[in-house]
Amino acid sequence: MLPRSISRKDFIKNSSVLLAAGSGLLATAGPAAAADNRTAPVPGKTLTLKNVRLETGFEYDKEGDVVATKTELFTIEIRDGKIGAVLPNNPSAKGVDAKGLLALPAFKEMHIHLDKTYYGDKWVATGKRQGGVKGMIALEQQIIPELLKNSTYKAEKLIELLQSNGSNIARSHVNIEPTSKLDSLKHLQKALENKKDSFEAELVAFPQHGLYYTDSTGLMKDAAQMGVDYIGGLDPASIDGSIEKSMDFVVQLALDHQKGIDIHLHESGESGLKTIEYLIDKVNENPALKGKTFISHCFALAHIDRKKLEEVAEKMGNARMGVMSTIPFGGTVMPIPTLYKYGVDVRAGNDCIIDHWNTFGSGSVLQKTNLAAQLYGYRTEFDLSRILKLATHNVLPLDDKGNRQWPKAGDKADLVLMDASCSAEAVSRISPVRSLIHRGTIVFSKS
Ligand SMILES: [Zn+2]
Repeated sequence: MLPRSISRKDFIKNSSVLLAAGSGLLATAGPAAAADNRTAPVPGKTLTLKNVRLETGFEYDKEGDVVATKTELFTIEIRDGKIGAVLPNNPSAKGVDAKGLLALPAFKEMHIHLDKTYYGDKWVATGKRQGGVKGMIALEQQIIPELLKNSTYKAEKLIELLQSNGSNIARSHVNIEPTSKLDSLKHLQKALENKKDSFEAELVAFPQHGLYYTDSTGLMKDAAQMGVDYIGGLDPASIDGSIEKSMDFVVQLALDHQKGIDIHLHESGESGLKTIEYLIDKVNENPALKGKTFISHCFALAHIDRKKLEEVAEKMGNARMGVMSTIPFGGTVMPIPTLYKYGVDVRAGNDCIIDHWNTFGSGSVLQKTNLAAQLYGYRTEFDLSRILKLATHNVLPLDDKGNRQWPKAGDKADLVLMDASCSAEAVSRISPVRSLIHRGTIVFSKS
């Protein structure tokens, strides 16, 4: 191992000097912009990183199999939140010394509930589950008023946890229901405003208590006009009693407000499959929803026969739909390799981080990627390097042939510095994140 420890003091000292030379804080482009474009850096701000390790190619054995990943040190110039240039290393350049740490694309946490957590407050184990999702709705009706009291503070702590694990972007569902009304959304938006220079989130208006099971349709219509990016949904057959009525509302609201769709679907069996197929049909009828429609969990796909799975996965891929997964194991292992095979947009997230549903979320999407590698047998240098795409949403330093494709001039300057020698090691060892750079600003660092 190389001596790659990086001093937090040095980092903060150097970056603050560089930031002071520029114009400092970032500005926002306004709530209507998509999350990736929401943070617009102030022109003129620069950051130089030297001694940054980048992957440069694969090493092959006689059979043509990848056996190792080649790396070299570079100097990276960042300007206006974007990569300005990737240059041969200049150890004497003025700038921040990355001390040989490996740069990877920043991670994306794609399914979480930033509005609903005990994290940052107290430890609370989950109670005994009673009554399925409806039992959980009854529990939420009791505890949400208490959770809301400091939900802005806890959301900020949760964002800091995600940053420390290398994520600078999240897709967060936010409860829209008669108990919290629009307060979960307002409190979370306050937290995001407080963190706007270092973190971005796409928001999903989530009718956690059912659209019709509790009357949440009016609140959902209000939320659709409050800067959310996606319209959510929940188990339409088992909670609302009608796939068509519930999904039609979600689809229409998304179309009326030019939003995407991201529904929670825990239901398995016939109703789960029927919901997936109903949504595929709706996306095909409304091409504006292509590339913007996601099913979170989608457990039904884990329990259908191979032939039907291939058929549904192909239809989802053709409709450019996505599946958001926590990479479950045990009785439900999602067919993620098959989804990839048909071009389904697979993304990973932690979902729950110390809340009344689950207390096991670490906040690391790299850990979820490691879990996927274990579950699906991605063991070789090449396979491990490829599955990193689950953490970075398909941005990889090398293409399949080993050509360097990231970072390049013009890319957003969103990167993590890892204590790892290459992507494969980072995935396999869940290597420590030493720094997170968001739009050219160091927003987390740890020695
Ligand atoms: Zn969820």
